[in-house]
Amino acid sequence: MNLDAYRHAARAWLEANAPSEAYPEGEAVARAKEFMARLYDAGYSGITWPARWGGQGLTQEEERAFAAEARRFTLPTYVFSIGLGMTGPTLVERGTDRQRERFVRPLLRGEEIWCQLFSEPGAGSDVASLQTRAVRDGDGWIVNGQKVWTSVAHHADWGLLLARTDVEATKHRGLTMFVVDMRHPGVTVRPLKDMTGRANFNEVFFDDVPVPDEHRVGEANDGWSVAVTTLLHERLSISAGVGMGNRKEDPSSLEALRRAADTSDPLVRDELVELHIRTRALALFNRRLAQEAEAGVFPGARGSAAKLLLAELTMFQADLATRLTGPASVVGGDPLSHAISLAPAMSLGGGTNEIMRNIIGERVLGLPPGPRVDKTVPFKDLKVGTQG
Ligand SMILES: Cc1cc2nc3c(=O)[nH]c(=O)nc-3n(C[C@H](O)[C@H](O)[C@H](O)COP(=O)(O)OP(=O)(O)OC[C@H]3O[C@@H](n4cnc5c(N)ncnc54)[C@H](O)[C@@H]3O)c2cc1C
Repeated sequence: MNLDAYRHAARAWLEANAPSEAYPEGEAVARAKEFMARLYDAGYSGITWPARWGGQGLTQEEERAFAAEARRFTLPTYVFSIGLGMTGPTLVERGTDRQRERFVRPLLRGEEIWCQLFSEPGAGSDVASLQTRAVRDGDGWIVNGQKVWTSVAHHADWGLLLARTDVEATKHRGLTMFVVDMRHPGVTVRPLKDMTGRANFNEVFFDDVPVPDEHRVGEANDGWSVAVTTLLHERLSISAGVGMGNRKEDPSSLEALRRAADTSDPLVRDELVELHIRTRALALFNRRLAQEAEAGVFPGARGSAAKLLLAELTMFQADLATRLTGPASVVGGDPLSHAISLAPAMSLGGGTNEIMRNIIGERVLGLPPGPRVDKTVPFKDLKVGTQG
């Protein structure tokens, strides 16, 4: 099928299948799963993912064509965003064939929801200092510890968990990545409300949770390199808006602000133009990274630049929306006030702006790294709180 025909078919499918309004709260996840199954069966989930593991095996061209059409609709894909943007690509790149066989297709079809279990109360920016332990137990492992800020964990069937498996090694070397069953009775999930008033992330406790060795992703004690794969995909998928949905109704979009603002004022026009330029520049940068990835050029740390640009654009947009629509918009309880109060989260989730700048400085620009004393010392000898 040529690209025009593909795009027309995608548009027709979306017009017939995209929900016309948000699902009622109590049934939102079940209905989102039904939608995802239809999306997959129609061939629009996992467009560029390998056909061998349940994807469509198509190119970035088709992916972009579908995304361009999808932007005109409100797709209920948020709850799948961690699986589609982060844990799924990690399994495709770093999992065993058995893991890919077992997990990828149900993830793409929305049958199973995923979360990413990296951050801990004492390990966010410096995630390699995490203390959740996985200890060998016969053929498998036993996990104990606590994670925090875990998006969609309250709906998740599976989690990609980074745990410490060797305290004698230096902190980046003694980590291992696992797939953990979020439905196990030893897993406790407690929702946390953010400042929008909604609870999209959670704290998660693990009490003697068994994990079979076949659910280990990558080699034992090589979890950091797997985590780097996940974090790279996280930054790229956040900046490309994977699974974010709700584009059509973005109340702080350029179109919405143009309607709300007094565009006879040249200063207002100036700011709207800046919003347009920044949005367009980020879209082109994302497109370039996607084209390079398709040509086999690894975006590496430049993914952090895309994520930083999006975080800064989101704050600029929220600030502009507040100034153009007045202070009442921040406390209105409507979609605009929700978008404004959600904006700062973009500069934290997936790594803070400061951490993105550190990465860009060191790995893209080649600036000298800050002094680090923790690269050569065994984890057990580091002072990072109480170590079990
Ligand atoms: C909406 C949202 C969703 C999230 N979802 C998930 C999820 O699904 N899974 C998950 O594992 N985590 C998730 N997180 C957690 C997120 O990754 C962390 O919040 C983030 O990495 C920062 O860690 P922290 O909150 O512990 O802050 P800290 O690391 O304590 O940082 C505090 C401040 O110090 C600054 N800082 C720290 N170190 C440095 C340094 N070396 N140089 C300069 N400045 C520094 C930071 O930039 C920040 O301003 C989510 C967070 C948010 C906001």
